[in-house]
Amino acid sequence: MKFLVQKFGGTSVATPQGREMVAAKVVTAKEEGYMPVVVVSAMGRNGDPYATDTLINMVKQINRNVSPREMDLLMSCGEIISGVVMVATLEKMGYPAVFLTGAQAGIITDNHFTEARILRVKPEAVLKHAREGKIVVVAGFQGISEEGEITTLGRGGSDTTAAALGVALNAEYVDIYTDVEGIMTADPRIVSDAVTREVVTYDEICQLAQEGAKVVHPRAVEIVKQKNIPLRVKSTFSDAPGTLVTSSGEVYKGTIDITRDRTITGITQIPNIVQFKVNTSAGPEGLKEQRRLFKGLALAGISLDFINVYPDQVVFTVKEEVAGKAAQVLENTGFIAEVIPGCAKVAAVGAGMTGVPGVMASIVDALARENIPILQSSDSHTTIWVLVRQEDMEKAVQALHREFINGAR
Ligand code: ADP
Ligand code: MG
Repeated sequence: MKFLVQKFGGTSVATPQGREMVAAKVVTAKEEGYMPVVVVSAMGRNGDPYATDTLINMVKQINRNVSPREMDLLMSCGEIISGVVMVATLEKMGYPAVFLTGAQAGIITDNHFTEARILRVKPEAVLKHAREGKIVVVAGFQGISEEGEITTLGRGGSDTTAAALGVALNAEYVDIYTDVEGIMTADPRIVSDAVTREVVTYDEICQLAQEGAKVVHPRAVEIVKQKNIPLRVKSTFSDAPGTLVTSSGEVYKGTIDITRDRTITGITQIPNIVQFKVNTSAGPEGLKEQRRLFKGLALAGISLDFINVYPDQVVFTVKEEVAGKAAQVLENTGFIAEVIPGCAKVAAVGAGMTGVPGVMASIVDALARENIPILQSSDSHTTIWVLVRQEDMEKAVQALHREFINGAR
């Protein structure tokens, strides 16, 4: 059987019209000789009656401290409703279909409620129904622990479900359907003339996703990459070819044309970052203090970013959610920190920048032209990050996009 895993995000299944478009994509795949396995997210966004955030808010209004176990039971409902509605839609059109929860589909996870990881997939139930010719619809974002508890996979978890099923079924493709035409050179909500990439490598999309391009979950990419299953990102609402994500091996075999000297794949942003500057003594005393500082933060489980260590100063950033905790840890360990809230991380991502001189110069140039101060910077061989004030974030993304993408570097 030629399996095709098709995953549809929240906006795709939000309205009856959207669900008709979804059904049309599934039926087309079936007519083309594929056995579609459909993974759905919950319907719509916060405020829509069966959206996951709506369910969360309903319970949080009663009690903010509901246990993660109960939250997972609640959060697993949205996808169940959505999946049953999808089966109803397909069967009305004359296509036999069956719905499976994550647990029924054999998505086995660890027991980390609200952020569980898939350990393995037991695809027997999916296979059985598929052999009977039914279109199998699976609830995304959820699984079952070995102890039999219902778990959810964290934000973007439906992508991970689709990827894991794709690997378990050895699918021809994993198709991620969403509300944009594919993987673009920047978030189209910020850059109106962002361009859709025809082909990107697993590594490029992983980088983009990790740096904030939430179009596909980085974990999903890691999973399909292990078995070289090609992933495509497409729009539910058009017939555009979308973006093919594949290995650089495929790309360089020459069968796929990727702009060879593409320096930058895309520009990304992550808002809500807080910068900390901590002065320490210089000399041997300072070394001891810095050790104490990093140890304290590590013990508190706070992950740091943009870390710069100087002889008499330490600078780093944390996510806004943990900034209060970080400040507390610093105070308890005897440090006085300068705290700069309201920052954002903007990144230029591209495997092609390795060894290309002048990328940083162009970044500084582009931001200076817009009078955007760089609070801090960092780089690896595939990414350059700058920390900017959040109010400058969108302008910074637009400036870098103009510089590297529209400027056709
Ligand atoms: P879904 O509900 O289908 O999973 P998401 O909201 O998770 O959809 O992902 C799609 C959104 O990702 C788009 O609407 C777009 O605003 C955003 N996005 C951010 N960066 C990018 C990018 N580089 N390319 C495409 N979309 C992006
Ligand atoms: Mg998503």
